[in-house]
Amino acid sequence: MAAPQDMCFAPDPGALEVLDALRAAGYRAYFVGGCVRDSLAGRTPADWDICTAARPGQVLDLFGAQRCIPTGLQHGTVTVRAAGGLYEVTTFRVEGGYADGRHPDHVDFVDDLQADLARRDFTINAMAWAPGEGLADPFGGQADLLVHRVVRAVGDPARRFAEDGLRILRLYRFGAREQLSLDPATARAAIDGRARLGCVSAERIWQELAKLLSAPRPAGWMPAEIMDVLLPGLGAAADPAGYAACLRAVDALPPDPLARLAALLCLRGAGFAGRSLAALRCSNAEAKQVQTLVEYGALAPDGTVPPRRQARRLLARLGPDTLLRLLALRRAQTGDTAFDELAAAARALLAENACCGLGQLAVTGRDLLALGVKPGPAVGRLLAAALEQVVEERLPNRRDALLGWLQTHLNTQEEP
Ligand code: ATP
Ligand code: MG
Repeated sequence: MAAPQDMCFAPDPGALEVLDALRAAGYRAYFVGGCVRDSLAGRTPADWDICTAARPGQVLDLFGAQRCIPTGLQHGTVTVRAAGGLYEVTTFRVEGGYADGRHPDHVDFVDDLQADLARRDFTINAMAWAPGEGLADPFGGQADLLVHRVVRAVGDPARRFAEDGLRILRLYRFGAREQLSLDPATARAAIDGRARLGCVSAERIWQELAKLLSAPRPAGWMPAEIMDVLLPGLGAAADPAGYAACLRAVDALPPDPLARLAALLCLRGAGFAGRSLAALRCSNAEAKQVQTLVEYGALAPDGTVPPRRQARRLLARLGPDTLLRLLALRRAQTGDTAFDELAAAARALLAENACCGLGQLAVTGRDLLALGVKPGPAVGRLLAAALEQVVEERLPNRRDALLGWLQTHLNTQEEP
């Protein structure tokens, strides 16, 4: 008989195919974790993970090596291809001995679903479901998700965070994403155990922090004590007013992790930002972007210049992505609507494909060589001068107009 929750679940055809094949072969198998949580919350799951009593070798035998990717055989995970999708199938397991504060020293395969659910981090993530069988929810995850609206550790929170420091970040991430409050004992243990964050690699910290900063309004899930560990030198706990202003900007921004990270790093300026970005090991492109945002963190609208002109100058200097981010950041930090006007002007310029960079200029280096300019730095200087004429709207971006101007410019100016 179908249980009342069953109607929340709409596994995709490939997911059902894998589950059915395992069950038809006599193995217990369930959808588990994020897909169960998201289905109960009324959201479409990103992926359908399966847990099963079948051992990895049995999964490989059942589906055949052709359809399987041995993702993490020692940990019991095989990825199976079905109906064009990929599904992680993980053997029921328990974990033990977290000597490094991050990974289990060993995992043991077991036959018991409940033991597998007990090793999972939060009650909302420790549920399993299978069609016809209904929900397995030994820790009250459904009520925590839908009734109490809390993130609660499975078991003793202090122990669970000591086992794996990453769970501390996952706590805030899931809280922010689902807009759940934190179970007080779990929240206390996370703060008290925050030194365990030192066991998490910089890459994982940045991954998790980026996910946290992508939540709708994450400020309520960013305690100063934790952020001071993630971004050493931030000094959030010692400067409550400054940090509160950062958090207001974070929430006022769209869910863009780079702009929001910049809003935090602005608290201590460009040097601090550079050190933090290096320590977080974000990609070079991300680091450069955030660094630029912090460096322009004092950008102010100039009431004496029309917004279109200002926007065009800034587009020429920063490019579209950086400028629009920067304007959103400054708007969030200051509440000044003049930044919205600049953003609207920048969008209008982009929509009309107005020339704001050398790539769009109607003349190229080749034109300058044809005018007799010698190859070398003079070419770049002249192109930049021509671009400036266009950006300042003293000349239209037309080849004839620019060539004429360059000709006169060359005649009146001594180029070395
Ligand atoms: P998302 O939508 O972000 O992928 P998710 O719940 O699927 O959310 P995953 O990181 O994909 O999260 O992990 C899948 C499941 O594995 C979790 O739901 C949880 O049950 C378990 N899990 C993942 N990481 C940990 C961890 N560090 N400690 C304990 N259990 C974990
Ligand atoms: Mg997942």
